[in-house]
Formats: sequence, C-alpha cells, structure tokens
Amino acid sequence: MKKIAMIALGCALGFAAGPSVAQDSALTQDIMDHADALGKRALASSLTEDVITSLTTEVGHRLAGTANDKKGRDWALAKMTAMGFDRVWEEPVTIPLWHRGTASARVTAPYQHNMAIVALGNSIATPEGGLTAEIAHFDEYKDLVAAPVGSLDGKIAYISFRMENTGVRGAKGYGYAGQARRNGSVAAAKAGASAIIIRSIGSDDNRTPHTGSMNYAEGVKQIPAGAISNPDADNLDRIIKSGKPVTVELNMTSHSHDPVVTYNVLGEITGTDDPEKAVMIGAHLDSWDLATGALDDGTGVSIMMSAAKHIIDGGKKPKRSIRVMLFAAEEEGLYGAHEYVRAHKEDHKDFDNTILGAEWDSGTGRIINFAPGVGSTSLNVVREMGKVFAPYGVSTLMTNSAKGQSDMSALGNAGMPAINFGMEPTNYFDFHHTPNDTLDKVDMPAITHNAAIYAMFAYMAATVDVDYKK
Ligand SMILES: [Zn+2]
Repeated sequence: MKKIAMIALGCALGFAAGPSVAQDSALTQDIMDHADALGKRALASSLTEDVITSLTTEVGHRLAGTANDKKGRDWALAKMTAMGFDRVWEEPVTIPLWHRGTASARVTAPYQHNMAIVALGNSIATPEGGLTAEIAHFDEYKDLVAAPVGSLDGKIAYISFRMENTGVRGAKGYGYAGQARRNGSVAAAKAGASAIIIRSIGSDDNRTPHTGSMNYAEGVKQIPAGAISNPDADNLDRIIKSGKPVTVELNMTSHSHDPVVTYNVLGEITGTDDPEKAVMIGAHLDSWDLATGALDDGTGVSIMMSAAKHIIDGGKKPKRSIRVMLFAAEEEGLYGAHEYVRAHKEDHKDFDNTILGAEWDSGTGRIINFAPGVGSTSLNVVREMGKVFAPYGVSTLMTNSAKGQSDMSALGNAGMPAINFGMEPTNYFDFHHTPNDTLDKVDMPAITHNAAIYAMFAYMAATVDVDYKK
C-alpha cells in the first residue's frame, strides 16, 4: 500500500470507537460499520489501479462514436460481468461523429514560427489548402463579443486570455476561461472572422495544446476553431505587442459525419428490498483522442467500477440497487446524460427511480469534502453519513445545493437529488484534454482513497431507508 492510503487506513481504524448514532436514526450502526469495513477493504486493494491500468493500456482513447469507443464499451461490459454485477447493459445514444483530421498553424509575418495547435472538438475544416489572414487580437472572450459586425471581415480572431489553476469556478478558472473555447467561434463569426484560434484552456507551459468541445449556433456562419499551446500563445502575444500586423496561416481538416449511435454502459448491484430504485454512481467512459483519457475520465471509470466490486465482495447487498453509470459522449456535450434524462422521463417514465447520484470527473485529486444536494428532511441522515467519512479525512460541507458533477449535473438539473465530492487542488488542468493525459499522471493512492469513499457512500445511500427528495 502506498503512503497516503496507509494514513487514511490508520485513521479509519479509529472509527469503531467514534460517536455512535441514536437507535431511531435511519442510518443504523450496522450500516455505518459495514460501510467502514468497505472503506478499509478498498484501501487495502489494488483494484482501482488495476482497472485504470487495464482501460488505458488495453483500450486507449475512447473518442465517441469511433471504433475505440466501441472497444471501451466492450471492455466495460466484459469487466463488469466478470466482476459479478447482477445486471450489465447498454442504452443507446445518438451523437454527432466528429473526425479530428490534421491541424497546423504558422505565423508568416512579421516573423516566422510554427505553432503547436489542435482542432477544437466539433470544428469544421479550413478551406482546402488552408487560409492565411491577419490576426485580430482580443484579451478575452467578452472583448470579442463586443466586436462590431463586419469589423473582423477576412481576419482570424485570436483570444489570448490565460486560465489559471484557481479551480473550476475561479475568476480566471476553467469555467470562465472556457467561454472562449465553447462560444468564441460564434462571436468571431458574427463579427465576420474567417477562423478563430484561442490560447489553450490549460494551466501548463508545455507545447501540448488543449482540445475540448466548441459550439456553433443556428443561423451563424460556421468557422474553423483551434487552440494553440501556452508557449506558442506567449510568443504570439510578444509579436502582437510589436504593433506590426501579424499574419497566420491555418490549415485544418477536421470535419463531422452523419450522426451515429453509441451507448451508455450500466452495471447494477440489485437491491434486496426495493430493486427498482437505484443510487447512481457515474463517470464518463468516452475521452478525447489525443491520449488515453487516464485523468479524464479513466479515474472516474475505475473508481466507480472498483467501488461497486468492493460492495459485491463485502457480502452484504444494499436494500435498493446501486448502478454504475458509464456515460457516453460527455466530451462533445453531455450527450449520454441528456439522453438518459430524456429516455427515462419520456419513454420509460421511471426517472424518479434514480434516487440519488454522484459522479467523478475530476482526475486524480483526493476527496476531501462531501457536499449534499437533497431534500431538507433527508439532509440530517445524509450529514450523518459524513461522520463515517470523517476519519478518512473527508469533511461534510454545511451547504445543500449540490447538483452533481459533469454528466450527473444534467440529471441533477432534471430533479435528481445529488452529491458532490470535492477534492484537494491538483495539476489536472496541466494535462486535461492534451496528449499528456496518460496513466503516469494518476495518483494511485488518491484514486484508491476515492474508491473507498464511493464504496462507503453508495452502500449507505442505497441501504438507509430515506427519500432524498424529501
Ligand atoms: Zn471529463
């Protein structure tokens, strides 16, 4: 066992002597003791490491709709079947199929430089042979939005805003900086630009540009969109500062095909008393194609599958079912999650049977807090679960507004109660969506710790007799 996991295990051993809960609580001492045993079982196991190693080595990338995506699904179905899940199945999701092609960019004047660039997901190609145009520079997305119609005719818009590793919602964090990637092409096209390049949405200083999804809007001309690496953006910014006109040659062959069908993959531990109702723990199985999707979201996949396996091996079935949900096509825009909501609300009319959900799509960070988003009467019971996590170094936040991470937010926004687990700061955004998202970046003791927390959480949440909506 590695060092961090051992520390947590040492702490966990003190749990039995911790405060006990009143007899009339829904969360009985039996449930808490078994959860703690599952946590210890997980910390003593190498399974989480084994699963992510298998996925990244045997499958590789899992770009939605590709042959590798199918390989990933077949891997997940076989793995969960071998693990002894009671039921393993797929649910169809129609997605746009995007092909990355090649991308190159070169400063041609006033100096000459090749730049490291990648196409943003969903981008169209440049005209055949590429395009060469003057750069129109903007400090940030909102400045581009303010550009008058026609002011960028025939130019390549460029946004130089640099994200900082200040958390997803920080003022310069991923969410804010990411507007340039998600919506920059629409703003640039409205002002007349023929293409857009952005500084990568990433916190590193490597020549590994960051991909990620971008959007087009109905009625607005589609233009090609790419991201250059941070060092290339630094260089471009210095050239722009010289005040001389800067021209760039851009050549991209990315393109979309007709929609295809992929699948969400589900595995279930069937509950003993109320099997229709299920607690869902999830991650997304798809990844970008530049690397092996180890951090994004191989860690989540391995945490959920191994957490469930520890519950299976722990020998006590939950009262309600536990479903491991491996979402399809998260990267292109939460397609699997949105289709799950649609299909289970409209076709199956059983959406409310998914009683509580939690996702992991945060890379390798060790879980340090637990944030509920449940009804006001069930909140006390959920907070009591926090007492079981406390010896593992996980504190319970006193908020009650969690909607679920990534895919699970689509379910949370559709009315499913949700839990968010928060993590220690990491260098996730150095590697996110780059050719550097590989297995060596994964902190194995941290994801083993996280699997322990998810195993404890899923068992308790599915077994305690409480309605999380109330
Ligand atoms: Zn992800």
